[in-house]
Amino acid sequence: MVYDAAGPHFFSAHLNPEPVGACSSFPTNGSEAGPSSYSYDVSRLSDRFFDVVRAADQPLYNGCDESQLSAVARLVNIKAENNMSERCYDQVSQWASDLLPRDHTLPPDYYNTKKLIRDLGLPIEKIHACKNGCMLYWKDDIGLEYCKFCGDPRYKPTKDRNPQRKKSPYAVLRYLPLIPRLQRLYASPATAKYMTWHACHQTKEGSMCHPSDVEAWRHFDKSYPDFAVEPHNVRLALCTDGFAPHGQYGRTYSCWPVILTPYNFPPGMCMKPEYMFLMMVIPGPSNPKRCIDIYLEPLIKELLQLWHVGVLTHDHATNQALMMRAALMWTINDLPAYGMASGWSTAGIMGCPVCMEDTQAFRLQHGRKACYFDCHRQFLPHDHPYRRNKRSFTKNRQERKIARPRLTGDEIHRRVEQYGTAVEEPLTYPSGYGNVHKWTKKSIFWDLPY
Ligand SMILES: [Zn+2]
Ligand SMILES: [Zn+2]
Repeated sequence: MVYDAAGPHFFSAHLNPEPVGACSSFPTNGSEAGPSSYSYDVSRLSDRFFDVVRAADQPLYNGCDESQLSAVARLVNIKAENNMSERCYDQVSQWASDLLPRDHTLPPDYYNTKKLIRDLGLPIEKIHACKNGCMLYWKDDIGLEYCKFCGDPRYKPTKDRNPQRKKSPYAVLRYLPLIPRLQRLYASPATAKYMTWHACHQTKEGSMCHPSDVEAWRHFDKSYPDFAVEPHNVRLALCTDGFAPHGQYGRTYSCWPVILTPYNFPPGMCMKPEYMFLMMVIPGPSNPKRCIDIYLEPLIKELLQLWHVGVLTHDHATNQALMMRAALMWTINDLPAYGMASGWSTAGIMGCPVCMEDTQAFRLQHGRKACYFDCHRQFLPHDHPYRRNKRSFTKNRQERKIARPRLTGDEIHRRVEQYGTAVEEPLTYPSGYGNVHKWTKKSIFWDLPY
């Protein structure tokens, strides 16, 4: 857990008095971070965090090299990896306590362990959702008991008449706020010094080892120089895909984890699991399809705050406060998830997001499945030998068509701005869907100003 919260080099880098003391000099007040509900008081968060570290940095017993915190972290890790029950954990700690000298500081059970490490963790929010995925019960809708779109109830029926008893909702979105996670990257000496790596590394001409070497990154820098000038600003990529927790043979259930990766780190770090943030798990039982935007709303809200206002953050590497901003640069998906995120459905005849309605796809004569065979020779240069090849593609067909140029971002935006978002209209598809276009919505990513 400590490892999850502070990075893999935490113990080696942290459990000495010098860096711990450095954080208490942080001079800021979290209320300056902006009016949003997502402004976390960084000094309070880090002070609480380091208070726990300091308090728990006592030896397990007199003369022992292992600290209380590291022993507890290892035990909690074993519990998580082996899916150990609380009862089993209690018994193991009781047995270990019997073996240790009398003056040991190992907590006697799981309850006390949780109390000890609670402040090391990062916040998690549980937001109730409609079981059909039409809305989240948050912001102005937090008090509703029925979905305002489909009318289904929010809570499961119960026979218990006690009004004090907590009701059980049908679906819960577990959301792990982004801002405190990014702030933690700057609070830990194991990661803070690498957060500006992208701005100062040298790359050999012609080689590409990191996203900062590519044209898209430079284009973004040119378009938003005020963002690019500050190397501490965070560049993020978002990826999502369906996940079946019961495997192939269990009951049909898929949930959708959404993961963010900061690309400020060097290539050896930014693709490591420790630095990929699980932002939310979209509840099942089925694919959220175009309604994925409803669940992404809390994340987009934080991204907007991180772009427009920024958040006051303490950088451990320079021991200074900075206004951290962040931008979402890319999304990484397979084709079906791309269709859900972008708003252009990738199913059926018009499923190619490049050719769009200008597609050459056709249906197979007997199975009626959409087939994209030999649709994309049109993108080859006009003198390419494959264009004249009559044997390897569709028999006796040469490709003479020149593909139309790819639509620019502005052109796509002009097309979709007439449509509603999935948050406004979760149950209806835009008119003409399936006949003249495959737009399912105006994607929530258009809310981001970049
Ligand atoms: Zn609903
Ligand atoms: Zn195509």
